[in-house]
Amino acid sequence: MFEKILIANRGEIALRVHRACREMGIKTVAIHSEADSEAMHVRLADESVCVGPAPASQSYLNIPQIIAACEITGAQAVHPGYGFLSENARFAEIVEAHGLVFIGPTPDHIRLMGDKIAAKQAVKEAGIPVVPGSEGGIKDIDEAKKVADEIGYPVLVKAAAGGGGRGMKVAQTAQDFREAVETASREAEAAFGDGAVYLEKYLGQPRHIEIQILADTHGNVVHLGERDCSLQRRHQKVLEEAPSPALNAEIRERIGRVTRDAVAAFGYRGAGTVEYLYENGEFYFIEMNTRLQVEHPVTEAITGLDLVREQIRIAAGETLGYTQEDISFNGWAIECRINAEDPETFAPSPGKVTEFHAPGGLGVRLDSGLYAGYAIPPYYDSLIGKLIVHGKTREETLLRLKRSLEEMVIGGIKTTKDLHLALLEEEAFKSGDYHIRWLEIWLAGRAKG
Ligand code: ADP
Repeated sequence: MFEKILIANRGEIALRVHRACREMGIKTVAIHSEADSEAMHVRLADESVCVGPAPASQSYLNIPQIIAACEITGAQAVHPGYGFLSENARFAEIVEAHGLVFIGPTPDHIRLMGDKIAAKQAVKEAGIPVVPGSEGGIKDIDEAKKVADEIGYPVLVKAAAGGGGRGMKVAQTAQDFREAVETASREAEAAFGDGAVYLEKYLGQPRHIEIQILADTHGNVVHLGERDCSLQRRHQKVLEEAPSPALNAEIRERIGRVTRDAVAAFGYRGAGTVEYLYENGEFYFIEMNTRLQVEHPVTEAITGLDLVREQIRIAAGETLGYTQEDISFNGWAIECRINAEDPETFAPSPGKVTEFHAPGGLGVRLDSGLYAGYAIPPYYDSLIGKLIVHGKTREETLLRLKRSLEEMVIGGIKTTKDLHLALLEEEAFKSGDYHIRWLEIWLAGRAKG
């Protein structure tokens, strides 16, 4: 097993990885920008290295500095967390070229899944159903228009290099088609340096369901069930739950099995998530994430497995040591993303946290680097914490969620806590009857008053 791991991230996820390392007797190295020297992930790590100025491009994305930090501290492996360099195949290659271990999949798998057109083709061949759409990327706009007419409108134009909901445009009618392609391509070029786009049927009211996978380097693959991430704003997840209120046992078994078999056929290693849209009893692949996800704790809650620990064990060459039959699912879990944002306008609200009180009690977990007196820097993602609650049933979990949100105090800044409290009063959410567009429709209704 590794003696020392460098955590190439910040915030709650850096802390999350640190905690798993600690429990495994592994020393940790934190990296940080000049703006983060007072951050909790730096305070708790065994060692820390400043890797550059505040902008992420010069610090958390600064590969030479991160490799140097490994060499200076003698770290043997790198955990990339999510975001930043976690899905950068080149980074994984450089880490390995320096004789270090990248705690994640092979660079080839990261690259394959990072190109959504290639990924879609690969999973289709492995037996996973995909959203109907163009075969490959759009080369000629007139050809593409014919394909769009065949698919039927509305049609979604998506970026091959897409992520975080960017580079996505809906063509409602044939008249909108050209403009949608041009806008999506321009956005993708600006955001990812790659303007390649492809077409998909725009599904009306699907749910976002994803399957968590773990695979070791000895050919053992298990799935850890699904997460329902249908509560979204601008294609970004706001709240996640496991299991999904929308699946029955038969469908759950089928999608888990199909996903596991396909991932096994790829020879994939590490943790990964296959994302689907689910509508009218059918699943359609949208993408695979080759990293730990923000919402992984809901899976941890219902399976009792520490996913970061499993990632580290797999990277060290250990076998899973359990089979699909050994995985059991217990109760219900819900995660609320707590963002430093205005709960109504969603404008970022960084600044000094004057007061902080974490909720506690049975089945309550708060993953956050906040403390009273901490100044949230304005340079990074607004996610400042995740509240995860676990109960025997969904009803019990909802009551526990309300109770713990009410207990949580974050003073001095605006947060999305009140949004979650308001959601808990909504019948559609309480009954589990919502889809990926429900939240936006609800928010628009609220804004009108
Ligand atoms: P990204 O990588 O940008 O997150 P995804 O392909 O994972 O993009 O899609 C993100 C979200 O966009 C989905 O959860 C869903 O809300 C919406 N979406 C993606 N594809 C479709 C589709 N074909 N029809 C309708 N909505 C879609």
